[in-house]
Amino acid sequence: METTLIVGACQAGVQIASVMRERGDADPIILIGEEAHRPYQRPPLSKGWLKGELEPDDVILRNRDWFADREIDLITGDRVVTVRRRPDGTGTATTEGGRAISFTRLALATGAAARKLPIDGADYRGVHYLRDADDAIALGPALRDESCQNVVVIGGGFIGLEVAAVARGIGRTVTVLEAAPRLVGRVVAEETSAFYLDAHRRRGTRVVLDARIARIVGDDAAVAHEKGSVTGVELADGTIVPADLIVIGVGVIPRVELAEQLGLDVEAGIVVDEACRASDGRTVAAGDCALMPNPYPLGVGGRIRLESVNNAFEQGKIAAATLMGEPGTYQGVPWFWSDQADLKLQIAGLSTGYDAVVVRGEPVSERFSVLYYREGRLIAADCINQPVDFMAVRNTLNKGGTIPAETAADTAIPLKKSAVLPATTAA
Ligand code: FAD
Repeated sequence: METTLIVGACQAGVQIASVMRERGDADPIILIGEEAHRPYQRPPLSKGWLKGELEPDDVILRNRDWFADREIDLITGDRVVTVRRRPDGTGTATTEGGRAISFTRLALATGAAARKLPIDGADYRGVHYLRDADDAIALGPALRDESCQNVVVIGGGFIGLEVAAVARGIGRTVTVLEAAPRLVGRVVAEETSAFYLDAHRRRGTRVVLDARIARIVGDDAAVAHEKGSVTGVELADGTIVPADLIVIGVGVIPRVELAEQLGLDVEAGIVVDEACRASDGRTVAAGDCALMPNPYPLGVGGRIRLESVNNAFEQGKIAAATLMGEPGTYQGVPWFWSDQADLKLQIAGLSTGYDAVVVRGEPVSERFSVLYYREGRLIAADCINQPVDFMAVRNTLNKGGTIPAETAADTAIPLKKSAVLPATTAA
């Protein structure tokens, strides 16, 4: 009999347990997560949750009965602090709460933590990060409180912009400070970045690009011996941007502590192969913590760490199969979404390495797509309020096809109609 220990009870961890049961594994599975909450979805935390529209039950991944019915032993609110494996592969994990858990199979689905900004004043009250439910539970009411008028978001990536959109939507004065020359520059083309800059400004958000932040300032006199509340952000030129609340969204750091204890190869994540197998040949890792050979056939190669629900889901499936000694493959092209105000962005494929883009539709209409090409071949698309384009691109890429750049800009021709598929699928 095997005993599987899955560390990290969120998107990837729950997926591993779920797929193992679907595939017929009947042996003990222990799924442990350090957060006190039942496994939940993170995306709503920067969207509906912040607006106050959702209850905890609305964001849970599976209810308690689901785990009980499948005899998955779910432990929440306890962190694995040490993990050891013997040469025969068996091992023991100990937890902060004093548990000692023996296992024969091990999965690391430890995710990532918010990257902290090493800056003076980041410890003032009113400075928030947003990675987990506790962060959201603290941030939501603070943002919605009447005393909160000026909101500063440090970081113009997806999470920062989603928070900015919610804050602006409830009437706050919002400033986004982005250190780079454009928004979401790591992931999207200049055309999409420029659109988001205009769209947020149209909605009344102030966006400062190339922002140089000197420090966070606050009201030190508030309480003796206690850090006061934040009052603003000082820029390098001495300007103070007033703030009652600051949200820092400057990326994440993969949680690799346990992998390091096990002596596994770690770079910008836990190094795994196509089967989600780590360097010891038997531990698996999946989701935000895993650095995998690029699973996208049209990708640029090398290893990649993807931060998306879709990736956690796909890698979770593969990791489950590998633990059971079966083959598993990454299915479909990577995809992602982000909701900012009434703007729904859907991304199909990975655009890294593109050499040309085609803009389909008018960005000012807030319904358009940016299609990415490399050597004449479609590799990805950002679709804003264009679910039909998204589905057409995703289906085309999934089938190994392309959409000629020459016709892609013509909105009179549905993308689906101009898709060119390989002979086997077209037939
Ligand atoms: P995580 O969700 O990080 O889960 C890992 C879990 O492991 C955590 O609960 C952690 O506490 C636990 N853990 C770590 N170490 C230990 C230990 N030693 N012992 C016990 N437990 C441990 N993706 C999208 O595709 N679309 C979106 O719109 C989107 N929006 C997002 C909004 C927010 C605010 C955030 C934070 C993320 C968003 N994402 C989005 C990203 C997506 O949520 C992640 O890619 C996904 O949650 C990754 O799942 P995971 O299971 O790999 O890691």
